[in-house]
Parts: sequence; C-alpha cells; structure tokens
Amino acid sequence: MFGPHIKIDAANHPTLKNSKGPTAMAQWSNTAPDVATKYAYELHRTPADRPLNAIITSNDIIGCHTHYWGGRTVPCEAPHCPACDEGMPSRWHAYLSVFDPKTHDHFLFECTAKAVQPLEEYRDSYGTLRGCFFSASRPKRRKNSKIIIAVRPADLTKTRIPDALDVIRAMSIIWQMPDTALQTPSAEHSTPTITPDHAIINRMRDVSPNNNGRKKPCTSPDPA
Ligand SMILES: [Zn+2]
Repeated sequence: MFGPHIKIDAANHPTLKNSKGPTAMAQWSNTAPDVATKYAYELHRTPADRPLNAIITSNDIIGCHTHYWGGRTVPCEAPHCPACDEGMPSRWHAYLSVFDPKTHDHFLFECTAKAVQPLEEYRDSYGTLRGCFFSASRPKRRKNSKIIIAVRPADLTKTRIPDALDVIRAMSIIWQMPDTALQTPSAEHSTPTITPDHAIINRMRDVSPNNNGRKKPCTSPDPA
C-alpha cells in the first residue's frame, strides 16, 4: 500500500512508468489558507515584566477548570477526572483568542477567574468582547502576582482583526487531547466545557486498569 506520504518513483514504477504526464501535482492556490482553520496557536499568560496588549477576536470568554498534574497543565475532566481522583486541586481559567495589532500575532490568552471581571463587564456592556482592546499587567511585576486588566473599545477603522480562533480546539491541541475525543463543533456560545471521550483519552494516556488507573509520569513541560 502506498500512503499519501510515500514518494512514488514514477520512472521506475511498474504501472506508472508508461503513463503520460505527471503522476503527482502540488496543490497550488491563489489564496493563503484561512488561518482560522488551523489550530496550533500559542498560549500566552500575562508576563511579569511588561503589559500584554491585544485586541480580543472572540465574542466571549470561555473557560474551564484545570489541574497542574503529571508535570503539565491538563483540563479537569470531572466527573471522571483522574487528577481529581488523586486529590489534585483545580483552578478555573478563562481563554480568549486575541490579536496583537503591532505584531499581527493571533494567539490564545489565558487569565485567572479573579482577573476576568473587567472583561465580563465589557461583554455585558457591549454585547461582545470582539473588538475589545485590553492591557493585562502585573503591577507587582512578579510571576503569578495579581493581574489587572484595563479595557476599552479598539479603533477598528484602523485595525482589521481576523476571525476568532476556535479556542476549545486550539486549547485541546495544547493540552494534547486526542482530536477524536472531542465533540465538534465547539461553538463559543454552546456549552463552554470540553466533553471528551474518556475511553479514547485513557487509551492515549496509557492508563490501564492493572495500574490502578494511574498515569505514567509525563515529562512534557507545562505549555506556558
Ligand atoms: Zn479534575
């Protein structure tokens, strides 16, 4: 069987060597692929030494509880959560898709439940967070210190912002959750929770009943 990734030597191939014309073509196009259909994006948290300034491209906050477990951040999968079963504490985090008007980077922004209040107020006032310019900073300039977020409407006559990223899908990739374990589509205004298939996830994490459901030590770093 030839997989799509295998190069075929047409000149020496028993059935292709006498065929006319090229046997494979590059897929040329006149437009760049829609970046919103790609999901591998960086996750940024508020740095200690400088503000993070960006324009929100998603309509709303979306968040979930996470654990720091096995050496990395993983989403809480309660009521069937191996981290909860081991008594690991969880924290709720909000995730947004945001655009840096200076660098044109489109990425994911994570913030704590405590810091998210100005964003909730903005959403309630304007009906959406899309187009909200924010500046997130840590006044004490220390890692993990309190975050302050200042908000105002961005001037969208000067900056064209891209379509929102699929935050749940992008976070699922960062968390290394198997794609097939996720129910799609993950619309922002649907239930803001991840609904994984635990059988698939446990298989992927190599959790078997004969090791009491314990996960093998994970050496992959925290995505931050
Ligand atoms: Zn949990």
